[in-house]
Amino acid sequence: MRRALWAILSTVALAVGLLAVGSPPASAWTSNGCTWESTTIRYNISSGSWATAVAQWNAAAVPTYFDYSTSSARVGLGTANNSSVSWDGLTGLTCSGGTTTYATAVINGAYTDSYSNYKLRSVTAHELGHVLGLDETSGCRLMHPTTEVRYSSCGISSPGSDEVNGINALY
Ligand SMILES: [Zn+2]
Repeated sequence: MRRALWAILSTVALAVGLLAVGSPPASAWTSNGCTWESTTIRYNISSGSWATAVAQWNAAAVPTYFDYSTSSARVGLGTANNSSVSWDGLTGLTCSGGTTTYATAVINGAYTDSYSNYKLRSVTAHELGHVLGLDETSGCRLMHPTTEVRYSSCGISSPGSDEVNGINALY
């Protein structure tokens, strides 16, 4: 099962919320404990199909904005190629005291090379949700960790109201 994972690279305590048992609540988003100081988040793309997911998040009704910059980027978006791991997308955050100072997000071409455009978008939009500060969640939502559920079962490939509400609450 392909999971889209994220990890905090620096040492920081992470509060892991327990998911509620039963039917998903109307509000499901959870924070990963890390947000950017500024709502203008400079990114650079080294490789991969990230531009659409960036545009989706920038078009959503959220206060954050991904601004392309080659010289002062704090988010690196790229591609890995590793068939010995199970993840199809991975985000790493450098986060101290709740403030994110750097992030990397990669898709794993070993799997995503065979994905449709929308399936790939489901992964990249999910990873950018982690970059902005969202944790995994349950149900048919963008922040569901597995692509089989998030995309193949639920057909989700862009930020929805739950993620938009989450980012508005975090910033
Ligand atoms: Zn994830």
